[in-house]
Amino acid sequence: MTQATSGNGGSSYEVVVVGGGTAGLSAALVLGRARRSVLVVDAGEPRNAPAAHIQGYLSRDGMPPAEFLAEGRREVKAYGVEVVQGRVTAVRQDGHGEGEFEVTVDEGRVVRARRIVVATGLVDELPDLPGFAERWGRDVLHCPYCHGWEVRDQAFGVLASPFVGAHQALMVTQWSKDVTLFLHTVRELPEQDLRRLDAAGVSVVEGEVGGLVVEDDRLTGVRMADGRVIPRTVLFAGPRPVPRDTPLTALGAETQDTPFGPYPAVDPTGRTSVPGVWAVGNAAGPMEQVINAASAGYRAGAAINGDLLLGALDRAAEAQG
Ligand SMILES: Cc1cc2nc3c(=O)[nH]c(=O)nc-3n(C[C@H](O)[C@H](O)[C@H](O)COP(=O)(O)OP(=O)(O)OC[C@H]3O[C@@H](n4cnc5c(N)ncnc54)[C@H](O)[C@@H]3O)c2cc1C
Repeated sequence: MTQATSGNGGSSYEVVVVGGGTAGLSAALVLGRARRSVLVVDAGEPRNAPAAHIQGYLSRDGMPPAEFLAEGRREVKAYGVEVVQGRVTAVRQDGHGEGEFEVTVDEGRVVRARRIVVATGLVDELPDLPGFAERWGRDVLHCPYCHGWEVRDQAFGVLASPFVGAHQALMVTQWSKDVTLFLHTVRELPEQDLRRLDAAGVSVVEGEVGGLVVEDDRLTGVRMADGRVIPRTVLFAGPRPVPRDTPLTALGAETQDTPFGPYPAVDPTGRTSVPGVWAVGNAAGPMEQVINAASAGYRAGAAINGDLLLGALDRAAEAQG
């Protein structure tokens, strides 16, 4: 076992964590406390950066995302974990034994690792609608559990998409009774959805949306392609969540089909099909909220520590004959 050292700027670690959001830092915390040498490389673009606050994380409800992660970095560094700002541009198996990897940071520094945690998160592929990206995380929202309380009882719009259909419109009625579903490019809804929308009192607007109306830095309406404006102060939408899985695909990790497209196939600890490689948080599943990402990182950290320890003991026992 290697005693972790702080800021060693070295070239060899027991574990390299790719991505220092909640999931990656949580794995690093467990591993640092288990006296493992750990490098966290983080490009500094957490998914919830546009949001003012993290909601729904017991004891951290309402904390700004940047403050939460700064606190996480401070905690892991106290256990000797090295955290660097940068982007992992390549991960490859170097063939010098089981679980040996070469990790390239910013196409320059190359470090070695025996285990890899991919905690790179996902990209929300926003619809190409004027004004949408500027309002994302402010009054254009994806998750009622993250934001519903804060915008309760306002005039909600919901943009239908192939990923969420009518489901999101039904869910948000828990937070406002004034809900309009914009079918946009969705041509037809199943009969059961239509019955439920009717029962929930959701208005359904056919036709494509052309953009958003913003006044005084606030959403005030949804503009249809035909020019009609429907007053709304909040718009829920379900962009396509695409995992940042380049390191995993480069290593040949198996994927599984989900309604959102392929995601890495992982066991309950985040272990992928590539020996020595774990995937956690939104890199492994689009539904992971901050608290789930933290939990996934914890499970992976503990599993990796056990894997390293038992592997070392097996090799020692074998050497003893
Ligand atoms: C607008 C918005 C608001 C949200 N609000 C909430 C909320 O209130 N409550 C809640 O529970 N959840 C919320 N979420 C969900 C939350 O963002 C995710 O649950 C959480 O970010 C997942 O953590 P993660 O560590 O898996 O990924 P992330 O937080 O996205 O972190 C991944 C990190 O990896 C880095 N990275 C990526 N590729 C590389 C690379 N190649 N090399 C190095 N680093 C890399 C990224 O830059 C990033 O820093 C919200 C999401 C959005 C979009």
